[in-house]
Amino acid sequence: MSEKPEHFIVDGKRLDGRRVDELRPIKIEIGVLGRADGSCYLEWGNNKVLAAVYGPRELHPRHRQKMTRSVVQFRYNMASFSVDERTRPGPSRRSIEISKVSREAFEPVVFTKFFPKTAIDVFVEILQAGAGTRTAGINAASLALADAGIPMRGLVSACAVGKVDGEIVLDLMKEEDNYGEADLPVAMTAGRQITLLQMDGHLTTEEFYRALELAKTGCDQVYELQRQALIEKYSKEYTTEIEDEDPAPAGEPEGDADE
Ligand code: ADP
Repeated sequence: MSEKPEHFIVDGKRLDGRRVDELRPIKIEIGVLGRADGSCYLEWGNNKVLAAVYGPRELHPRHRQKMTRSVVQFRYNMASFSVDERTRPGPSRRSIEISKVSREAFEPVVFTKFFPKTAIDVFVEILQAGAGTRTAGINAASLALADAGIPMRGLVSACAVGKVDGEIVLDLMKEEDNYGEADLPVAMTAGRQITLLQMDGHLTTEEFYRALELAKTGCDQVYELQRQALIEKYSKEYTTEIEDEDPAPAGEPEGDADE
């Protein structure tokens, strides 16, 4: 683990040169897995995460099926090579907790009533961890669900805010996450309904509300990048489909002959 830095903010700049209200760079690729119904690869600072969605599909064992809705299942997993010191493979208390809160972050937005007796399975694999993996996983999962065509009220966007050197900062990096005074991961819909809110550390009430406002601006920025990534993916696919279509034979009218 890295050493605690003496200062996190010098001349208004953080350890990686960002302003206090600046996100780390985000890169998104949608539809990266051939066998999944929906998928997304997302890089955020040093985080590299992959999300895959399968379903709606029959839920087994059957006694877990719900007659009136689909069951959303979420598994967050850290690859053993994703951190400096190898993590033990398999579920840990931390990954079980993150899976639970991430699943709950999607509960208000997924139209589960459309698919009774089924499961919608979301897998998030952390390939490289660098602080904020739960929020990175939620952002990738949101796009993988959209890519799978799961009906949702909207995308869920997430980011963390925190406190270092007495200042409220957006999108904590590793050192800020490890040694900062507070860490507050938040997920919300585009309409700013909060679907996940956790907090480690201490904030005054005034700081908490200021942090929440900053998280909202962070989530708005993430949402815009998610939206752009979806537009890019589907506008490309649509253009290719049109180009691939056989042109109508010359002289023949296009459209239905019975019309
Ligand atoms: P999040 O990744 O959502 O910020 P935490 O606050 O629990 O969740 O973790 C902060 C960071 O600590 C992670 O992003 C990761 O870089 C590191 N970390 C978490 N678990 C381990 C672990 N078992 N071994 C080494 N580093 C870890």
